[in-house]
Amino acid sequence: MANIYSEHDLLNRVLKRFNPKRNRVKCLECGKIVESKNRHDFQACGCSNGVFCDGGFDYFRRGASRPSKMAIVLDDDSLISSVTGRKIN
Ligand SMILES: [Zn+2]
Repeated sequence: MANIYSEHDLLNRVLKRFNPKRNRVKCLECGKIVESKNRHDFQACGCSNGVFCDGGFDYFRRGASRPSKMAIVLDDDSLISSVTGRKIN
């Protein structure tokens, strides 16, 4: 069962601070970036970590089996750790 961070305070703070327009996350295990482009566009990386995003621009629902191996992708392609909220690249 994947952890869901949509209501996680840290994710909400990250979204408020950086205000990304695109709903993207990167799996730090398989390296794939997935993007949800509309409300019903569920995308997953496909590896055992199960990084996913959903909701397009309507809501930011994201998660992973191992959240320390998931990064939020900002619009300038920099990465934010979903655990620490800090830039990681
Ligand atoms: Zn993956």
